Amino acid sequence: MGVTCRRCNCKEHYWLENKQAYECKRCQARQTLRSGTVMQHSNLPYRYWFVAMHLLTATKGSFSAAEIQRQLGHKRYQPIWEMVNKLRDVMGKRDDKYTLEGAIELDDAFFSTEISVEEKEKPLKRGRGSQKKTKVLVMAESKTVENPNRVKNPRRPDT
Ligand SMILES: [Zn+2]
Repeated sequence: MGVTCRRCNCKEHYWLENKQAYECKRCQARQTLRSGTVMQHSNLPYRYWFVAMHLLTATKGSFSAAEIQRQLGHKRYQPIWEMVNKLRDVMGKRDDKYTLEGAIELDDAFFSTEISVEEKEKPLKRGRGSQKKTKVLVMAESKTVENPNRVKNPRRPDT
């Protein structure tokens, strides 16, 4: 973990719990968890990104933006289309840059998904195979930090 201020290059930051953002100790510039990731500049909920990532990876990219929009139940097509394009871009070109190192946290979660008309007529399966739930696998790289407020020399991965 490491955060470098993009305004003044200071490496000391406070974590603002209520804003879910880092604040530079010197110039107060803020960075969110999205900064420096494919989610930067997006106002879409994290859930959208994880659902889209799942659909695109599980199906090797054959999901259309329109289908993902339908699954998410989002009104406007444009932001979903932009999200899907960004994801396709980073998935296609930069797989090797996103190798995880160190301790890997792995978990799965379920998101409710809309059922198509044809599937509604089939009897619902229970639990993990249910048509109502989409399984999403979440992976994160993490390091144990004894006191997050006292990280002296945070390092930012090369970008
Ligand atoms: Zn700063």
